[in-house]
Amino acid sequence: MPTAKSLFPSASNLIIIPSPLLPATFPGMLRAPGASQDDRSTLKAVVSGHIQGSVFSLKFTEPVTHLKAVLKWAQTDDRDTTSIEMLRNEASIYMRELLSLQGTVVPRCYGYYEGTTSDGRTRFAGLLLEELPRKPQENWTRAAEYHRHLMIAFCKIHKAGIQHHGVMDPRHFITDGGSAPKIVSFSLATRHNCAGCPPADSAGNIPQGAAVCLELQLLEMHYGSKTVEREELDGRTSRLAKWERLGYRLIPDAF
Ligand SMILES: [Zn+2]
Repeated sequence: MPTAKSLFPSASNLIIIPSPLLPATFPGMLRAPGASQDDRSTLKAVVSGHIQGSVFSLKFTEPVTHLKAVLKWAQTDDRDTTSIEMLRNEASIYMRELLSLQGTVVPRCYGYYEGTTSDGRTRFAGLLLEELPRKPQENWTRAAEYHRHLMIAFCKIHKAGIQHHGVMDPRHFITDGGSAPKIVSFSLATRHNCAGCPPADSAGNIPQGAAVCLELQLLEMHYGSKTVEREELDGRTSRLAKWERLGYRLIPDAF
C-alpha cells in the first residue's frame, strides 16, 4: 500500500487505551500493514466519544497533540472477513485515488491498521481519519450554494476514478457549518472510468442521448437540480452559464 499523507509517518502501531465505548474484545493495539513484530514506533490514544455506528473520536496521548481524529472500526470472529475487507478497500482508496483530495473534499487519512487477538480468534482493523466538525443540519443544506459544492466534490471524486455507491445517504456529507460539505464513507466505493454527465435542469431532467455515468446522473437528478437559486429558475439563466457555474470543466474529457 502506498504511503498515506500522514501526520505520523513513523508510527507503525496504534495503541488504543481500553474504553467502555469500544467492543469488549477490543485488543488495544493494531499494527500497520508491513510493520514488523519488533517495530515499537507507536501512537497512543484514548477514545473520547462515540460518533456514529463504528466510528469513534480519539484523543492522542502520545504524541500529545490537539489533532482531532476518528477511528473507523471493523472486527470479525468468524470466516466472514467482509467488514475488514471493506475497511481495507476504503483505506486503499483514500491513500491512492483520493490522496490529492484529502483535506478538501474528503477528510485526511492518517493511517490504516490491522490486528488479531492473542488467541487468534478475532481480527480487527482501524482506519484513522481526520475528525470533521459536525453541526446539525440547518437551512443552508437546502441552499443552491451547498448543492453546487456537493456536485463539484463528487465531480472531483469521479474524475479521480472513484464512484461512491452511497450518495443518497446524507450522513455521508459532513459539513463544518459552512456551505461546502466533505464526502465520507468510501467502504463500498469502487474504481471507475467516469463517462461524465451533463447537468440536470431544475426539474431533474438530464439531456438524452449521451453516454453518462449513472452515479453522476443520480446526483444530478437529486442534488444538481437544486443548484440554481429559485429566482434564477425563471428563465434568466442560460444552460451554458449553469454548466460553467457547476464546474463541469473538471471533467473536460467527458463533454
Ligand atoms: Zn462517474
